Amino acid sequence: MARKCRILASGTCEISGGYTKSHQAVDIVGAGYTLQWEVAHSEGTVVEVVSNCNYNTYKQGGPKIYGNYVKIKHDDGYYTLYAHIKYGTVKVKKGQRVKKGETLGYMGNTGYSDGGHCHFEVRTPNDVKIDPIPYLDADLPKNDKVNVYYKVRTKEDGWLPEVKNLEDYAGYGKHTIIDFMVRVDKGNIWYQAHIKGGKWLPKVTGYNEKDFYNGYAGESKPIDCVRICYDGNKNAKYRINNLPWVYNTKKCPNGDDFAGNIGENAYKLEIIIE
Ligand SMILES: [Zn+2]
Repeated sequence: MARKCRILASGTCEISGGYTKSHQAVDIVGAGYTLQWEVAHSEGTVVEVVSNCNYNTYKQGGPKIYGNYVKIKHDDGYYTLYAHIKYGTVKVKKGQRVKKGETLGYMGNTGYSDGGHCHFEVRTPNDVKIDPIPYLDADLPKNDKVNVYYKVRTKEDGWLPEVKNLEDYAGYGKHTIIDFMVRVDKGNIWYQAHIKGGKWLPKVTGYNEKDFYNGYAGESKPIDCVRICYDGNKNAKYRINNLPWVYNTKKCPNGDDFAGNIGENAYKLEIIIE
């Protein structure tokens, strides 16, 4: 049955192949199983193009290639990809800006394709393929990922390198953390250190400015516990020394959640916003 579909010039399409674990895309044709012009789902930049494929690999059993295709990076980081375009009809070049609805090429049967159609993919900013069917007639998901950056100081090492998300952890061996600082690229975050054998120090707010830390938490004395609160529509998840993860909760910013064990030196800090 024909449905609304903004990636065809006609505005309607039918699904000829659905999204599955092995086929992480949707195959579409025009209403009444017709071939149609394909257009850009949304504004963006063309990041990949193949336009010189004039053959089909399906009958010989492979290779499983897209044939002629266009991949667009949209401004919020998501990608769309249109495959098996007819030879000689690709209208765009790599690096070109395209508007929503701009013509890309005509449906075809190039590459690993069993009959003329458009193989359409939607990918996240990390290039992971997701079910494209919800987006045939709707805007792409909003990219609301929040990155957190942080670093710690130890007596032995001084300030250690900055860590992003869980790509690494902050710390070095069992060297005791004596100060730390945190920043985010969206929203705000605050953080607080507990001095071993002492008390909680005042909260420090980390702003969302690039490469800018508002200040550090600590008094250059051994820290045993930390408390972190992300102020936004997500939560901070953090831990000390591989102890169980702590989530900032509704009790944050005035609750009693914290990571670490009172009286035990903190030597490893990990934070993610999710
Ligand atoms: Zn397909």
